[in-house]
Order: sequence, then structure tokens, then C-alpha cells
Amino acid sequence: MPAYNEARNLPQVVPAVLQVLKTLAARVEIILINDGSRDNTAQVARDLCAQWPEVVLLDLSRNFGKEAALTAGLEAARGDVVVLMDADGQHPVELVPLMLQKWREGLDVVYAVRRTREDQSALHGWLTGWFYRLINWGNRVEIPANAGDFRLMDQRVVQALNALPERNRFMKGLYAWVGFPSVAVDYEPLPRQAGQSSFGLRGAFSLALTGMLAFSTVPLRLLTMVGLILAFTAMGYGAWVVAEYFLWGILVPGYATIVVSVMFFSGIQLFSLGLMAEYVGRIYDEVKRRPNYLLKDRTGAGLQATPGQD
Ligand code: UDP
Ligand code: MG
Repeated sequence: MPAYNEARNLPQVVPAVLQVLKTLAARVEIILINDGSRDNTAQVARDLCAQWPEVVLLDLSRNFGKEAALTAGLEAARGDVVVLMDADGQHPVELVPLMLQKWREGLDVVYAVRRTREDQSALHGWLTGWFYRLINWGNRVEIPANAGDFRLMDQRVVQALNALPERNRFMKGLYAWVGFPSVAVDYEPLPRQAGQSSFGLRGAFSLALTGMLAFSTVPLRLLTMVGLILAFTAMGYGAWVVAEYFLWGILVPGYATIVVSVMFFSGIQLFSLGLMAEYVGRIYDEVKRRPNYLLKDRTGAGLQATPGQD
């Protein structure tokens, strides 16, 4: 459970989740990841750890972002089954028994798909739709639309995710990339209990860009296509100008055409350069090989790595 400024939600959400989990399995743990919150989330979480031995707190050294917090949680999770949930109460814990049921039927991944997204504006929804269309275009792995991080995974899927070396952790893409038998279940997200969402349109946009650059080379291919189309158009136009001269002897007055084409092509070139620079920047991030997150301290033992005890 990644938590960023969730001090007011944790005291309600954690006991409610724990109560349900205890009815499902003999040995459970709840791993809270404090992602450098600016309120007293860390203290609240430590109190919860003191109250319940099942609760573990991973305190990150600063705010690394939800994807990094999830990575930290996945690396610490020892259970045979791991469920990712938000700490704000938006993910209904009542869905977990159903997910577990599907796991018992032999599926390795059970991901929850939002039926509606009422907290999003129409523009946001429309952009999201296009994002998935674009990122999935011509890709071997399909990233399901409207599936968030609320999901249940078998330990072997978690290990596959942990083994992925990349720094650029667009989790939605990584889930799809590792594969494994998966099934979707519908759910209705609950309203946030307290506080506000950390992801506005801007945050979503930057996450979308990250995902696009990490999981698709479609933008580069589009550029190649635009370049080809422009080159052929230019050739056609050139031939037309030459023909015009020889057929009718027209000396084409060129001022406007020149200005417009120079501006148009330099625009396209700068845009291409910028797009390539985005990819290069991501490569730079990858080669630096900095860790995805830094742990400040850990509270609570949780499940120990003792396979075969359940
Ligand atoms: N979160 C996090 N780090 C961040 C931002 C958010 O760990 O930098 C957590 C947050 O505490 C919550 C989850 O990620 O548990 C989802 O965040 P939020 O509710 O803000 O997003 P939304 O539900 O609107 O997509
Ligand atoms: Mg939320």
C-alpha cells in the first residue's frame, strides 16, 4: 500500500483491510510504503505497526513517486499472493476475496478494471482513451485500458517484476510485459476518504509520456512516416514547378511558399529533435543505474521468507 500524505486515511483503511485479509488467510502482512509524505503519515503508520504485528512500514527517504513506492513494496512482499492497493480507501477490499478465488482457480494475475471514472473530466477520459490506443498500436503486449494498480499477483509474477532491471518503472506496462495467465474483474472505485488525489491532468500526462517512451517506439515510427510523406510531397511539388516552367513558362513567385515551408519544416525538425531527446534522456536515466528508491527505515517484521509454512 503506497501512501503519500495519507495520515488521515490510514487509521480507517488499514484496520478495515486487515480485518478482511485475516478471514482469507492464516498468515498475512500489510506493507505500508511511506513515500516521503509531508504530513505525519510515518508516525501514524508506526502506531499501526505497534498495534498490529501484521503491519510493516517501509519509510522511503523522500518522495519517489507511486511507481517507485510500489516497487519497494513488491520487493519486500513475502506472501504467496500479493495484492496492491491504494491507501486512500478507493480500492474496495471486498473485491479481494473474489480475486483470491480467481487465483485459486489457477490464474496468476487478477487485475481490477474501473467501471466508471467519475472523478475524471471528459477531456481526461478522452485523452486516456487515445493514450491506450496509441501505446497499444502495433505492440505485441497489450496494456489493458482502465486497469490500475489494484491487482492480485502470484509470488512468481512479483518475482518476475522484481527481476526487471529498468529504472523507468511504468508499472502498468511492466505488468503487461511479464504476462502470465491473467483475468480482469470489474469494480467501482470508491470516493477518496480524505485528502486529495496526487495525480491531476498534468501528473497523468507526465506518467503517460513516461509510459509511451518506455513501452512504445510508435512516436519514432510516426516521425519516420511524416518525414517520408513530406519528402514525397516535396518531390511531387518540385516536379510540378519544373513542369509548369517548361509548359507555360511561369516564373513562380515564391516568397510566401518559401517562408511557410521554412517555418513548417524547421518546426517539424525541432519537434523530431525534441522527441528524440526525450528518448535519449530516458536512456541517460537508465544508464545511470540509480536505485528506484532509498529506504530510510523499516518497522515491523511482517512475513519472513520461510517457504512452505502456509
Ligand atoms: N501515492 C504515492 N506517492 C505519490 C503519489 C501518490 O505513494 O507520489 C499513493 C497515494 O498515497 C495513494 C495512491 O498512490 O495510495 C494513489 O494516489 P492518488 O489517490 O493520489 O491517485 P488517484 O487515486 O487519484 O489515481
Ligand atoms: Mg486515490
